[in-house]
Amino acid sequence: MAFDFDLYVIGAGSGGVRASRISAGHGARVAICEEFRVGGTCVIRGCVPKKLLVYGSKFSGEFDEASAYGWGATEPPHSWTTLRDNVAKEVDRLNGVYIRLLQGAGVTLHNGRGRLLDRHTVEVGDKIHTAERILIATGARPFVPAIPGAEFAITSNEAFHLPDPLPRRVTVVGGGYIAVEFAGIFNGLGCETTLVLRRERVLRSFDEETRTFVHDAIAASGIAMRTGTEIAAIEASGGKAPYRVRTVAGESFETDLLLYATGRIPNTSGIGLEKVGVQLDKAGAVAVDEWSQSTAPNIWAVGDVTNRINLTPVAIAEGHCFADTVFGKRPRKPDHRDVPSAVFSQPELASVGVTEEEARRTLGAVTVYIAAFKPMKYTLSGRGKRTFMKLVVEKATDRVVGVHMVGDDAAELIQGLAVAVKAGATKAQFDATIGIHPTAGEEFVTMRTPRPDPAPAAKAAD
Ligand code: NDP
Repeated sequence: MAFDFDLYVIGAGSGGVRASRISAGHGARVAICEEFRVGGTCVIRGCVPKKLLVYGSKFSGEFDEASAYGWGATEPPHSWTTLRDNVAKEVDRLNGVYIRLLQGAGVTLHNGRGRLLDRHTVEVGDKIHTAERILIATGARPFVPAIPGAEFAITSNEAFHLPDPLPRRVTVVGGGYIAVEFAGIFNGLGCETTLVLRRERVLRSFDEETRTFVHDAIAASGIAMRTGTEIAAIEASGGKAPYRVRTVAGESFETDLLLYATGRIPNTSGIGLEKVGVQLDKAGAVAVDEWSQSTAPNIWAVGDVTNRINLTPVAIAEGHCFADTVFGKRPRKPDHRDVPSAVFSQPELASVGVTEEEARRTLGAVTVYIAAFKPMKYTLSGRGKRTFMKLVVEKATDRVVGVHMVGDDAAELIQGLAVAVKAGATKAQFDATIGIHPTAGEEFVTMRTPRPDPAPAAKAAD
């Protein structure tokens, strides 16, 4: 049977764009459809604009520091309009870059939502397209719990487009990546910021000692932490701010903006997946094997819609492996081990490898090295900012199996160390590496005294 295309990709985010470009490069006839804007969550309303806002919000701390270095201490006024509009311009530029990348690779772009009519037929608007193979790369969307007044809350999607001036009081709900990142942004931009989370500490699933350190540092940065609680209802007279927030414990407080960052759910509904034999898992994500192949033989899925490791570089790797395997005669599976990640909270947290808890559970005996210190930059001002570093070493092999850091440039440092962890470097090899002086990073190669076991108990079980 003759198809219009060899591959039809639904969703032009990080995973879909990479898969379609590489497949086209291997000679496939490829089309891709996108309902919103080419670039997807990461480029349009995620990682990229978020990190620019993090940069923007960090200046307030820099002005504080500058006076100790002899600069005038007056902080200039901040214009949210300028920051927001400059970020939007950069997003527009990147959107154009992505579109040109697709065009340059010979990929046909269709604007609109794709829906499967059968295993080989995609409907986009009033057009029908056929393809031998289909790739689902539709990503995920914010989840907001169904509480009374949930309609008054915004999600990260809307946070990039807020009117000027920013609200005086902002409440961020959740204790994950997005919640701590946006709490830091609003706090840095001068909003009175409250973080409401149902656990006692932020960032479940990160190394316990490391998340305790980052939790305390976030609290010390001026963000009010309401821990161990959930919001029961949001009330607004006349449907407008200020909002009265009621917690399950019966407390109540007022705020001018609520941002919910309580997780994301895979975009699998309304695509016709159920009709064509694509099974979903319990979380509603497309169930795939290690080749990213779904339960329908000609349909694959990559990125957040598969809910494996929901990070852009992972989606890109999955999309590239798919293209090489299916069209490039070079079978490759994405490797989900030792994926480094960073949380652009303030201070920043980054990790690669396993947590101490996971290492003890899966590898047995481990040796742990930690360093907590005031970085050189903050010695003149005497401000209380501290950095934390941790190495988890497997006793039997001397391999460094986990590296964790909280502090300035943690993501940049951990990206470099991720190569060492991936390559199976031992503690002896870390020790044999000469440091660069004076840096924070040199601590990673000069830690000699193991931390006594066990780790200091976490403040509260959560
Ligand atoms: P996360 O899964 O990181 O965090 C969700 C948070 O919401 C958790 O604290 C969770 O609590 C809480 N939560 C869930 N349901 C409720 C509820 N009903 N009431 C109250 N709290 C609730 O999700 P995010 O939305 O922050 O981010 C989604 C994913 O996007 C991340 O997992 C990450 O993979 C990716 N991401 C990566 C970034 C990066 O690389 N820097 C940045 C942003 C996102 P609990 O812990 O109790 O479940």
